[in-house]
Amino acid sequence: MTKRVVIVGSGFGGLFAAKALKRADVDVTLIARTSHHLFQPLLYQVATGILSEGEIAPATREVLKRQKNTRVLLGDVTRIDVEARTVTSELLDRTTTTGYDELIVAAGAGQSYFGNDHFARHAPGMKSIDDALELRGRIFGAFEIAELATDPEEVDRLLTFVVIGAGPTGVEMAGQISELARRALVGDFRNIDPRTARVVLVDFAHEVLGTFGDRLSAAAAKRLQDIGVEVQLGTKVVDVDRDGVTVEDEHGSRSLIPSFCKVWAAGVSASSLATQLAEQTGAETDRAGRIKTLDDTTLPGHPEIFVVGDMASLQGYPGVAQVAIQGARHAAKVIKGKPPTPFVYRDKGSMATVSRFHAVASVKGLRFSGFIAWLLWLAVHIVYIVGFKSRVTTVLHWFVSFLGRGRSERVATEQQVLARLALEQVGDSFSLGSEGQITRRTAKAR
Ligand SMILES: Cc1cc2nc3c(=O)[nH]c(=O)nc-3n(C[C@H](O)[C@H](O)[C@H](O)COP(=O)(O)OP(=O)(O)OC[C@H]3O[C@@H](n4cnc5c(N)ncnc54)[C@H](O)[C@@H]3O)c2cc1C
Repeated sequence: MTKRVVIVGSGFGGLFAAKALKRADVDVTLIARTSHHLFQPLLYQVATGILSEGEIAPATREVLKRQKNTRVLLGDVTRIDVEARTVTSELLDRTTTTGYDELIVAAGAGQSYFGNDHFARHAPGMKSIDDALELRGRIFGAFEIAELATDPEEVDRLLTFVVIGAGPTGVEMAGQISELARRALVGDFRNIDPRTARVVLVDFAHEVLGTFGDRLSAAAAKRLQDIGVEVQLGTKVVDVDRDGVTVEDEHGSRSLIPSFCKVWAAGVSASSLATQLAEQTGAETDRAGRIKTLDDTTLPGHPEIFVVGDMASLQGYPGVAQVAIQGARHAAKVIKGKPPTPFVYRDKGSMATVSRFHAVASVKGLRFSGFIAWLLWLAVHIVYIVGFKSRVTTVLHWFVSFLGRGRSERVATEQQVLARLALEQVGDSFSLGSEGQITRRTAKAR
């Protein structure tokens, strides 16, 4: 019988694992909670109106349609039974059980609010298309409401954007909101001047982009200041509510930053499937809930289960796309018959954009900042965007936004903005899971 391989997730790990098994003599079933592959590094461009969601989220089914040994199932994986070798997934009221001989789990990570999940209501994270569209509505909506407001204090609150977390996502988001206010929206309003918007980037750490090292951190911080972003480091966020963000400085002094639109770009927490697998296999989990794999990405006593990407903890490798892609390809090679060997991540470098024409990049010991780094960023992203169509339209949109001043994707519907709150109104049938998924509660749980 042909070997059955089940892959959980359609992100970088899941999709690249499936692609790596293209010519293998195996039956592949890829199960994911979304029908698309998501290019998370460009979510901030969806949130700020540069790109459409379709450009960064092609249908997984379409990407894999020529891969005859692979089928794609939509479903939320709720249970992996390592003894029975089955994966149970749910789609609304339908439960599907899929058996496997080999399993690759790449279910990624969700947002962590460090035990303050109620912050999510006021400060959406940046993990999904839903998050990005909700934030797009809040960002553009803030300018719209400010145009109508008459109280100067209210206008200030509406035009203050707080981004929490000064890693790559936070820096990119703060930089883009500032460019939106100071460049793209200039001249669009009659009562307010969008250039007066305040963009505040807050982090408990003492540098922005801490993992890039001193020189690039300093270059990014300077560029952020040049484009009008207020950077508050060594600052702890102690509360987030409707009115704004309460912060505490190093001396314990607290203050409120009044703000309508808040973005959470700090902290990740691994998929709950990591804990489930750990409980069944005896593997450990780390503080972020990631499962500690063996060197070859398998689990103790289970050479048939591979865990890759953001939900796995191995050798301190970072939670970046290349670790997921290379880990997935490594697992696929073993499934295709190569003897198991330790997975060694080849660091191809890291980069983050701060504003148009300005990025920082660290590639094989070489450090760049400014225009050269931005060109590198551009080239790498064009290569890794999935699908020819998406590449072409993305480049066109970049022309519109970076050479011109336009933002082609400013649509935000009421449903996108209010969905999170609306879900709380529909009663107890549905709930928003900790990983951002909409789940139907069972009668027992209600
Ligand atoms: C805003 C943002 C910006 C980023 N920028 C960069 C960057 O510039 N460079 C870089 O290298 N990395 C970046 N990253 C990190 C990078 O995107 C991740 O490291 C990468 O996506 C990890 O791949 P993965 O396959 O492990 O997880 P993901 O890509 O998150 O995929 C997880 C998949 O599993 C599915 N899933 C989860 N739970 C279940 C379940 N229970 N049942 C079924 N399916 C499930 C999800 O739907 C998804 O398809 C960024 C991440 C974010 C959020």
